Amino acid sequence: MTVEQWLKYAKQQLTTAGSSSPAIDAEVLLLSVLDKPRSYLFTWPDKALTATQSDQLQVFLSRRLSGEPVAYITGVREFWSLPLQVAPSTLIPRPDTERLVELALQKLPSSGGDVLDLGTGTGAVALALASERPDCQLTGIDLQPEAVSLAKSNATALSIENATFLQGSWYSPLQDGTKFAVIVSNPPYIDPDDEHLTQGDVRFEPLSALIADKQGMADIEWIAEQGRCHLSDGGWLMFEHGYDQGPLARDCLTALGYCDVVTEQDYAGHDRVTMGCWKGL
Ligand code: GLN
Repeated sequence: MTVEQWLKYAKQQLTTAGSSSPAIDAEVLLLSVLDKPRSYLFTWPDKALTATQSDQLQVFLSRRLSGEPVAYITGVREFWSLPLQVAPSTLIPRPDTERLVELALQKLPSSGGDVLDLGTGTGAVALALASERPDCQLTGIDLQPEAVSLAKSNATALSIENATFLQGSWYSPLQDGTKFAVIVSNPPYIDPDDEHLTQGDVRFEPLSALIADKQGMADIEWIAEQGRCHLSDGGWLMFEHGYDQGPLARDCLTALGYCDVVTEQDYAGHDRVTMGCWKGL
């Protein structure tokens, strides 16, 4: 089969299986096996696939047809223009989370500072911030040892030296009194009963990165409560949440004594990130 023929075949199979993005899925799988940039597809449509490539593609396509996310099959996902290794132990970085990065960049002190990323997963948010601000020192924490290894490996692969990663539950690996200028987090925030969990790619992602008790608010509440001990005076806490959790997130921060509490929207116009400034008691 040629490049063009395989794309057509894979697209047909994926469409029949109900994929919502058959053309992109087919292209990404093919380029991963060929290890080529996207332009290759238009430059070399008649190139014949080798037997090894065809076999590998058949394995990849079968996995995708059974619903596995493309990023887990290829092992990479781009975030903030950084190619990140991903694995089933971590959430696949989402474009919406780039909004959290954008907003955090606006709050980082111009003179540099320490920044904490809670539930760092692949290290996506911490590494994006570290790459933009070499004068800041990033600390990423994750409960899953596999995620911590992956984040470290991503930092090494990207030659990012101002990010360190620690294993533990939320703030627990930190010494008492460690303070940060900004704390960011994309914590689990989905209600355990949300039907969205039984559909599409999320079925393959770790539940520990997705769900939280109290209609998805339990981890956010913990992060906000404990954050008060780990923010410098005038420091910012900001976290991602569900489209319908803006009011709850703002109430939570306000009740805990945070100031200038505001919710910002994602690229689709949905409430996505809430933040508050800690000015001490
Ligand atoms: N936004 C993701 C989703 O809806 C969830 C990410 C998260 O829980 N932190 O699939």
